[in-house]
Amino acid sequence: MSREDYEVIIGLEVHAELSTKTKIFCSCPTEFGGAPNTHTCPICMAMPGTLPVLNEKVVEYAVKAGLATNCEISKNSKNDRKNYYYPDLPKSYQISQYDKPLCENGEVEIETKDGKKTIRIERIHIEEDAGKLNHDDFGGGSLVDLNRAGVPLIETVSRPDMRSAEEAENYLRKLKSIFEYIEVSDCKMQEGSLRADVNVSVRKKGDTKLGTRTEMKNMNSFKSIVRAIDYEAERQIDVIENGGKIYQETLRWDDVSGKTFSMRDKEDAQDYRYFPDPDLVAIKLSEEYIQNIKNSLPELPESRKQRYLEEYKLSEKDAKLITSSKYLSDLFEEATAICNNAKAVNNWIISDISKILNENEMEPVQIPFNSKQLAKLIILIDKGTISSSIGKKVLAELFNNPRDPEEIIKEKGWIQISDEGAIKDVVLKVLKANPQSIEDYKGGKDKALGFLIGQAMKETKGKANPQMLNKMFLEELKK
Ligand code: ZN
Ligand code: MN
Repeated sequence: MSREDYEVIIGLEVHAELSTKTKIFCSCPTEFGGAPNTHTCPICMAMPGTLPVLNEKVVEYAVKAGLATNCEISKNSKNDRKNYYYPDLPKSYQISQYDKPLCENGEVEIETKDGKKTIRIERIHIEEDAGKLNHDDFGGGSLVDLNRAGVPLIETVSRPDMRSAEEAENYLRKLKSIFEYIEVSDCKMQEGSLRADVNVSVRKKGDTKLGTRTEMKNMNSFKSIVRAIDYEAERQIDVIENGGKIYQETLRWDDVSGKTFSMRDKEDAQDYRYFPDPDLVAIKLSEEYIQNIKNSLPELPESRKQRYLEEYKLSEKDAKLITSSKYLSDLFEEATAICNNAKAVNNWIISDISKILNENEMEPVQIPFNSKQLAKLIILIDKGTISSSIGKKVLAELFNNPRDPEEIIKEKGWIQISDEGAIKDVVLKVLKANPQSIEDYKGGKDKALGFLIGQAMKETKGKANPQMLNKMFLEELKK
């Protein structure tokens, strides 16, 4: 059989750190970083005799996430202990949710090559994050940092509905964008605020039974996820084609070698010996509470997109790209409000800004400049203070060292030459140096004008006002 005879089945378990100010069961800050073990207290350090108290914001954020992904919200939910041992989990159990998660049976829509597709969400539950082990390259040991222990998470478990790495990527991007819009998580993948456990299995096309799956844990880059799924699917097909068997196990993806490696046999739910946490009360929600959260949900990407088509007359493609990220979308709206030129803001975002983001593998949230600075850049071009080619240099500078574009152009001497005398000097100089072009133009070759303007731009290092150059060359050539 060939590869074409197989189907790849992918399911994702996505952990998102919630952006509450304090941890899930104590009042320590959730802030990223900080000296090791400074964001801790006896509760999140798991001292015996301490008692957890559930942070109400965590419930609110999880319900928000559930409503935004079309889940049913459970009015009767609880916390359970999931037992396992890790050096960065001093309690030896994680407080999570087992049989009564807060949210169930949701769905989100993604775009695929063959049109829209619905990915079902099995559940969203709340749980606490574990600490972190810092491997000491010099002393040869590992150091435990519990700053992250007790940071609230929501875990969103999809049904195995994705059939390609591309669909898995689109689903994760969709989830990320929804969580950003409703502001429950900053979704900074590079800081691990959003990470996915990727389950992959293969089966022969036409089979109805799922094949044995393997799981790759804690993946936090879209690129690695796509590569890892493609690699793992191929590997499983090879094993089956050669008469082998797939074992349920947890794998580690190695980005450098581009391969997966076995870490351990995968446990099933029963191995964790879940039981209700006796230190915490049941979570009971009223219809009114849920309704209030529903009413407070902000505008979601799909509706913003529609508005951009009507209000700003953006193309479907541009509107989709901009609204796919809340950061880009906010940047667009704020900059437009200042400079009043939606078309220019749109163009900068979809062309030059996106290009720089792609080249540097950056997420929109990492854009270092703000909407004011982008708007200022556009105003300077609109006023004719700088040309759009200088504008591109200013943008590069904004990425390097963000500051007021006006300061940048002063400092760099990039202000456009709009002085008639100065422009005229350049025009005469270029004409004198290129008599052939004058003849060409007079002989009907319009292209020669473009060449002359190009020479003048070169002469002024891109600073001459292009409209004035055009006008003056024409005047001289008609003489
Ligand atoms: Zn604490
Ligand atoms: Mn989990």
